[in-house]
Amino acid sequence: MPVMASDDFSIHADGCDQFDDGMPISSLPDEVTSIEDLDCECWSGFDSLDEIE
Ligand SMILES: [Zn+2]
Repeated sequence: MPVMASDDFSIHADGCDQFDDGMPISSLPDEVTSIEDLDCECWSGFDSLDEIE
């Protein structure tokens, strides 16, 4: 499940250590349309948004 960081609202994979605190979100924001929209390197292990649940 993705996690939204509470400080800058960036989206991270569960288990990412690049944010201090965050809130699990059940679905990605509408503005995220491809894996490239997710900037953190924690997404590098994912090939497409379809793999994110
Ligand atoms: Zn991350």
